[in-house]
Amino acid sequence: MDDKIYVTKPSLPPIEEYIEQIKEIWEEAILTNMGPKHVAFENQLKKYLNVEDVSLFTNGHMALEMTLQAFELSGEIITTPFTFASTVHAIVRNGLTPVFCDINIENFTIDANKIEELITDKTSAILPVHVYGNICDVEKIQQIAKRHNLKVIYDAAHAFGVKLNGRDIGNFGDASMFSFHATKVFHTIEGGAITFSNKDIADKLYNLKNFGIKSPTNVEEVGANAKMNEFQAAMGICNLKYISESINKRERVYNRYLEHLRGISGIKVNEKKDNIISNYSYFPVTFNKEVFGSSRDEIVYELNKEEIYPRRYFYPLCSDFECYKAKYDSNKTPTAQWVSNNILTLPLYADLKLNIVDKICEIILKKK
Ligand SMILES: *Cc1c(COP(=O)(O)O)cnc(C)c1O
Repeated sequence: MDDKIYVTKPSLPPIEEYIEQIKEIWEEAILTNMGPKHVAFENQLKKYLNVEDVSLFTNGHMALEMTLQAFELSGEIITTPFTFASTVHAIVRNGLTPVFCDINIENFTIDANKIEELITDKTSAILPVHVYGNICDVEKIQQIAKRHNLKVIYDAAHAFGVKLNGRDIGNFGDASMFSFHATKVFHTIEGGAITFSNKDIADKLYNLKNFGIKSPTNVEEVGANAKMNEFQAAMGICNLKYISESINKRERVYNRYLEHLRGISGIKVNEKKDNIISNYSYFPVTFNKEVFGSSRDEIVYELNKEEIYPRRYFYPLCSDFECYKAKYDSNKTPTAQWVSNNILTLPLYADLKLNIVDKICEIILKKK
């Protein structure tokens, strides 16, 4: 058994339960194309996420890419550079131009006070990210979108099961994308979904993920192939049964980290707000070297020596990627730049042992 500790580890259901699901797939002999598991899982998700509508995809990225296509956006999309590559690639692969807005230092989401100054007559949408499951300033973003007639599409890849003031996260904006990648809080091996309330979008998304085929003789859109298959849906059905248990276990790990790291000067932990139901998806920590004594990268080095592998998540900023850096200047988003250079995501998964959390914190605090 490999006892290296990685930043995350997929939760798996009891194997017998997955086998039971697979047997049914054998009996039906339907493997994909919105079969019975797909239909059942979609309905279960709609209930769990408390949303009007949901559309399943083979992964979160294609879900996002096709949603931008479905809304027929044009020109510029305001987003954050402090995100996973997928967010920005989805914009660019639609022939659209990302415009990077800085983030706020409190919860690392897009700084809603800085959005309006970036709006031009080419702007068609805002694509904010609920990074680490932290919720964006959804109210202010909605007001801005309304004032300027913009669509709002959330990258909610990290926010499965999160609620704000009792309202489920998938109900904000025009649509929200969830990722069900193996490394996320909830997974279908690979997978993703879009939640939305606009009925016109339902058919469009359904057709787009199946080559734009509306009927056997009518291909209306330039679609692609992004259907979730039956084996993925079956994994989703199994994992959904255990999601509360899994989030509770994550909360225990989260609280243990807090016990050790809260209130240490030079360290900022990701505090959960009282009006938020969290999924405890990540445990990001920023290290201010001048105050704490060690830099983020020195901490990484110490942890790696003990075969513990946290992630410098998200470093580098998307605007510093090889494929984008010529067009952007990350000095224009100084908060995102500082956070990206000083943040570390510590290991957090349902089965992470508390004594490992103790060990990780001990290694960190030795470097004070
Ligand atoms: C994981 C992730 C995605 C992409 O999801 P996949 O299911 O891996 O395609 C997009 N955005 C963010 C912020 C993510 O973390």
